[in-house]
Amino acid sequence: MTAPVSRIIKIGGFEEVKAVFIGGDYPVVIQTMWKDRLSFANLENEAGEALARRINGLAAMGCGLLRFAVPAMADAEILGELASRVSMPLCADIHFDYKIALRCLDFPVAKLRINPGNIGRRNRVAAVVSKAAAKGVPIRIGVNAGSLPAPLREAVDNRSLDRAEALVKAALDELAVFDELGFTNTAVSMKASGIADTIKANRLFAERSSVPLHIGVTEAGPLVSGTVRNTAALLPLLAEGIGDTIRVSLSDSPENEVIAGREILNAEELGKHGAVIVSCPRCGRNGFDTIAFTERWKTRLYGLDKDCVIAIMGCAVNGPGEARHADLGITGAGNSLMIFRHGKVIRTLPVKSDAEADKAFEEELNKL
Ligand code: SF4
Repeated sequence: MTAPVSRIIKIGGFEEVKAVFIGGDYPVVIQTMWKDRLSFANLENEAGEALARRINGLAAMGCGLLRFAVPAMADAEILGELASRVSMPLCADIHFDYKIALRCLDFPVAKLRINPGNIGRRNRVAAVVSKAAAKGVPIRIGVNAGSLPAPLREAVDNRSLDRAEALVKAALDELAVFDELGFTNTAVSMKASGIADTIKANRLFAERSSVPLHIGVTEAGPLVSGTVRNTAALLPLLAEGIGDTIRVSLSDSPENEVIAGREILNAEELGKHGAVIVSCPRCGRNGFDTIAFTERWKTRLYGLDKDCVIAIMGCAVNGPGEARHADLGITGAGNSLMIFRHGKVIRTLPVKSDAEADKAFEEELNKL
């Protein structure tokens, strides 16, 4: 079977916003979603600088698109202001009120996501589509199993329609409305919390349409279970060439969603490489808390703009030897720390605190 080829859409590329392409032969884009509601106070002074730093950090880790819920008109004003301050393309996620979508389009917001299950009548969609077309802003039609349009929901409830088929029908019905309005700058997602439904819906859609697909399992759970469920659903789809952008939805931080997305793409050899972290699970022999160190350093390491292997090992007995291939490694050794390259110890130092370990590691990391 030949892999489906989706059409290409451009996100951003205006004012200071970076251009990101999805579809065609472009690399699969990782995206995530901001977890908190912002206020104008989040944009002021040091808070605003910290927010911009965190968003830039997500970009360095490989996130290409960042979505924000926009539940009320005031949130559109805040997102609009933020969109003019960062180069990361920002996507406004809008349910129910089409006027919020219209307001977002007054700012350099790079993409809209609307839910056909609740955005309302055709004239409202037409108003949003017309303004988005004028500004060159793509729209994702985001269908969720939990908020299907009423007739489809009833058909699923009375078992006259399979849930995956209902997701596809909801997406195609809405796309037909967009097509009639002459708007083709669209992407589609069909999200369910079940792995089988997610795979089936996306396979069916890819057979019937070339509109680019945003894929992921929704409400997938906390870090471990959510990562496993997304991996189980996304790997078979990506292996078949289905999926132009992914979001690993987790009850966890955006950073961990991006890391999970990156590892899934790397497993399919589709992602940018950057740093690969090799870290030991820690055991009773450890002289160094690899779990805490990895947690402290993972954002920085995944943000490195360099292909490298970083090892974080618990003890000197096995650490350097087991991680011979590492470009840089750190391991505990009794009350000391060893830093090594390619299995050879290059530095040994007594360490009494996390701060000392971090400082020594940072000095060597900066030399990489
Ligand atoms: S490197 Fe040492 S501490 Fe880590 S799992 Fe192996 S033996 Fe245990």
